[in-house]
Amino acid sequence: MKVRFLNLSVKQKERSEILSAIDKVLQHGILINGPEVLEFEGNVKNFIGTKHCVGVNSGTDALFLALKALGIKSGDEVITTSMSWIATANAIRLVGATPVFADIDDDLNISLESIKRLITNKTKAIVPVHYTGKACKISEIVELAKSASIAVIEDSAQAFGATYNGKMVGNFGDIGTFSMNSMKVYASIGEAGAIVFDEAGLYDRLMALRHNGTVNRETCIEPSLNGRLDTVQAAALNVRFSYFDDVVKKRNKIASLYNETISRYVGTPIIPVADRHVFYTYTIVTEKRDELKRFLEANGIETKIHHPILMPQQPPYMDFTADTKNASILVRRILSLPASENLELDEQEYVISKIKEFFCGK
Ligand SMILES: *Cc1c(COP(=O)(O)O)cnc(C)c1O
Repeated sequence: MKVRFLNLSVKQKERSEILSAIDKVLQHGILINGPEVLEFEGNVKNFIGTKHCVGVNSGTDALFLALKALGIKSGDEVITTSMSWIATANAIRLVGATPVFADIDDDLNISLESIKRLITNKTKAIVPVHYTGKACKISEIVELAKSASIAVIEDSAQAFGATYNGKMVGNFGDIGTFSMNSMKVYASIGEAGAIVFDEAGLYDRLMALRHNGTVNRETCIEPSLNGRLDTVQAAALNVRFSYFDDVVKKRNKIASLYNETISRYVGTPIIPVADRHVFYTYTIVTEKRDELKRFLEANGIETKIHHPILMPQQPPYMDFTADTKNASILVRRILSLPASENLELDEQEYVISKIKEFFCGK
């Protein structure tokens, strides 16, 4: 049997709905900033519970524009996690600021204690990531930041719909950012992202920043990039919005079955009882990571490491301050198993049987 890590093909019913939504866009012809973009922004802000949403091209743009909107610039320090997709550090660096990398806890999320150790009088923002689709200690981080007048931008790229103490992530900090790229849990059919926030003053600023820093269509008030969201992607996202709950339920069901069957062999993620984990990745922890990965691969099972290199160990970031005691151990032990909503039960049972075989023999 062959088990792919991620199967992005779309099932018949949803596919025909997406195609007819795209057909509508082609008929009305407003291919950029069409009405579907406003509908998408409305869906996202109502769902997350913020006053505003600005749709953008990608999660990377969302982070970059959010930092820019808050005035983060050269000379400012921005504390983020050590373990994330490199986009998080890149966005900080691209506004000219200095990333400072905090350690992680055993759930792979940013450590509050490490953040406390790294705050200096130059710290202007904290960019925590809700890693793997599980909320980090965001209430505590926001409380700490407020007491020191530091801004918080939640990189919620992996965690659309995840909650912490019953409240949606993206709704705790000054700004929340999302990626809707095709691999994420709430996914477009290409690249997309969103920025959410409550402060009215940020709205006009972000609308200008996502369009080359222009106001009134022409006057440029500040250099920026083209971060607008395609109408076609928004149309697909609006269809997918109605499938989102089902996607998260399926991912949770898959995670529960893994937890029941393999937690005696490997470290498995904690599934919160009162909160929602959206399982962007189902990531296990084992000292035998490399051997297990090779064994699964030899048996036709594709796995991934999210991510094999800590951000502060990437060439452009090696000279920046980093607290990586726990992260540098965990980065050698993490492994993401196939666990998306398209994984069939027989595929999952095969993965489970091969993990058992690896640890116990036939
Ligand atoms: C995916 C991701 C991003 C970037 O999003 P893109 O839409 O791919 O640009 C940023 N941060 C994290 C944590 C991500 O997983």
